[in-house]
Amino acid sequence: MLNLSEIFCSIQGESTFVGLPCVFVRLAGCNLDCSYCDTGYARQDDGCEKLSIQEVAGRVSDFMVPLVEITGGEPLLQQETLGLARHLLDLDYTVLIETNGSLAITPIDPRVHLIIDIKTPGSGMADSLHLPNLDYLQSHHQIKFVLVDEADFFWSLDFIKQHLSQLKYKEIIFSPVITSFQPADLAELMLEYRVRARLQLQLHTLLWPDCNRGR
Ligand code: SF4
Repeated sequence: MLNLSEIFCSIQGESTFVGLPCVFVRLAGCNLDCSYCDTGYARQDDGCEKLSIQEVAGRVSDFMVPLVEITGGEPLLQQETLGLARHLLDLDYTVLIETNGSLAITPIDPRVHLIIDIKTPGSGMADSLHLPNLDYLQSHHQIKFVLVDEADFFWSLDFIKQHLSQLKYKEIIFSPVITSFQPADLAELMLEYRVRARLQLQLHTLLWPDCNRGR
């Protein structure tokens, strides 16, 4: 059974799928504790619903939207996440999984569009990356750095340089924590250092700034 925190339909606010209607399957439980976490309610699995893969797929189909993101918490903590992704893919959904990068991505169906967070020092979780994951990245996978401040920006540049052979042709996203890092300041730095990455603001938080659940 899957521990489900919530399931809802919204506008995809991040990644290269930004702007598209998307069903979010938020699974409960997380192994990290990031400083900027905005889904604290999904970090614990007490009080969540327990559903089978077929039941989750049934809820997804009710929304009649072809794009699904499995997120958390940390979705890879649950064994049945892989089966859910495969089941949705076989039903012809485009499936994204957003992971915090701390667990092995090797068993995931290669059709999944993975979005892997690289945790920076500002998150307080910078040592959490399962480094071998970098060797299994595919061209349709996306790498996201959430930047708390300028120090995170320079740390991320160093990280990219250090792992250039694995990251060279991948989609890289820089997303500032807007309460501590002004997007315009990040934009100036990205231009100054000619960073080959995409600056991205969370579209859903711009659209619904006062809403922290269900959007
Ligand atoms: S990995 Fe995601 S859900 Fe877990 S603490 Fe960090 S931001 Fe929150």
